[in-house]
Amino acid sequence: MTRKANYFPIFLDLRGAAALVVGAGKVAERKIGKLLAHGARLTVVARNFSAPVRGMAERGEVRGIHSPFRPEHLDGMDLAFAATSDPEANRSVAREARRRRIPVNVADVPEECTFILPATVHGEGFTLAVSTGGKNPGAARAIREFLEERKEEIAVRLERGRRRREARPQEGKVYIVGAGPGDPDLLTVRALGLLRGADAVIHDYLVPGEILSLASPKAARICFARRGKTAGHGSAIKQAAIHAAMARFAREGKSVVRLKSGDPLVFGRGGEEAEYLAAEGIPFEIVPGITAAAGCAAAAGIPMTHRDVSSSVTFLAGHEADGKGETGIDWKRLPSDGTIAVYMGVARAEGLARDLMEKANLPADTPVAVVENGTRRAQRVLRGRLAGLSRLVKEAGVRSPALLFVGKTAACALVGRPSRENIEERNDGPVAQSV
Ligand code: SAH
Repeated sequence: MTRKANYFPIFLDLRGAAALVVGAGKVAERKIGKLLAHGARLTVVARNFSAPVRGMAERGEVRGIHSPFRPEHLDGMDLAFAATSDPEANRSVAREARRRRIPVNVADVPEECTFILPATVHGEGFTLAVSTGGKNPGAARAIREFLEERKEEIAVRLERGRRRREARPQEGKVYIVGAGPGDPDLLTVRALGLLRGADAVIHDYLVPGEILSLASPKAARICFARRGKTAGHGSAIKQAAIHAAMARFAREGKSVVRLKSGDPLVFGRGGEEAEYLAAEGIPFEIVPGITAAAGCAAAAGIPMTHRDVSSSVTFLAGHEADGKGETGIDWKRLPSDGTIAVYMGVARAEGLARDLMEKANLPADTPVAVVENGTRRAQRVLRGRLAGLSRLVKEAGVRSPALLFVGKTAACALVGRPSRENIEERNDGPVAQSV
């Protein structure tokens, strides 16, 4: 060809089209499978058939002709594919097809093709085709992988487009999504896709800006909780406002991400919000996240369970640990040989340590670890003993968010190299070095 190829992308309806495939080896097999899936009537010409292609011919799924290629094989064809391992044979298929003005593709030889096949990504209700004009198949693959990772976002956007086109306003959807402990790398792929595709993001104060900045710039961002006195524990008024906002956006047909730190179902009111949405008949979905205990344990190198020293993990809400109300903790039943991870416990560290020693009968020298800002840039890890917990927290000026680990495993520090800078580790007195 003298001019540079300048491909026009089209999607062909192949149902009932007659296509010739010359070759019946591995390369041909892949093409045959795809062509059949799209409804083409296939004739396969080859000297030797691979077992799968032979099977297809025997079952009548393709017409098989055991022969070298001859020009008359192209009679009546709408499309031709040359996929033999013999370049000369491929070239003669291309030449003959061109002469008859039958579109032809020669596997891996773009110069001889009149059409080329794009890399494709199939999603729910859509197909994306990617091409670099046959010049750089590796790049097409890389772009395909890039799109593959963004399927979620694409699906959300398509859904939004569909709703916009429909005359009758439709209900949107609320995704109750866990954002993980703070490091954006610890978001799930699904959470990232939903954030990028969101119309509105309603988030907790604990979700850092680094994560929020990943949301679509067009998305409305709403945060009801203010840092400070409430320490993030919502009042009934605030919860009602969150419910109302979710419902309003969803009823406008929007895609709402209700973004919560950690996992939405661990001390996150995700359950209450899901109940509300269910009662209102608003579609919703729950997307899990890495809960603070898991994130902090990994960051501080604390194995929450370990065959030698801990056979259970208990997640406690520190601010509920005052025994008031029906959510009060049954201290006597706390497993004494496990790891206790206390959320929202900093403010009540003193009372908590007392309860654990007096009511749960934990020894005063039980190891404790405090992980402040776990997985975030300002992460600090402090270690000590249960009796000294309150002093440890006070002296270091620990602030929310912080997680307390209590139990033998809290003395472990299986950290290799910190993944983030500015990570500080303090040790208050002698503790076991390993389990
Ligand atoms: N749903 C969240 C918990 C929300 S309650 C989850 O699954 O993680 C808020 C408490 O979580 C904080 O008071 C603190 O105890 C803990 N927390 C959240 N993020 C944290 C972090 N990055 N480091 C330490 N503790 C954290």
